[in-house]
Amino acid sequence: MRFVFECVECGGHYLPPEEMVYPDGPASPVWCTDCQGAKRAAGVREDPLLARIALAAARAALAGRAAEAAEQPARFDVRPSRPPLSRRSRPGPGVVRSRLG
Ligand SMILES: [Zn+2]
Repeated sequence: MRFVFECVECGGHYLPPEEMVYPDGPASPVWCTDCQGAKRAAGVREDPLLARIALAAARAALAGRAAEAAEQPARFDVRPSRPPLSRRSRPGPGVVRSRLG
């Protein structure tokens, strides 16, 4: 699975290789290739904390998209009605018996 990152410099979205490595070096989770090249040329290194946050955000976004995809088929069956009563909200005889006993 590949992560989509948002460049903190230009705000653009980019999709680095899965291994986070470009042919010419490691990919950055905070900068797109253009900005990374510019930063490298300027001698600026990425903030490790920022990189971790960016990775976590990309992971969360990926998980969110996966969950959304998994939910997709169920959406056709959603009706505008009250949520179904759960078994717990309807105390049956079994519950009463256990309370008395
Ligand atoms: Zn950029």
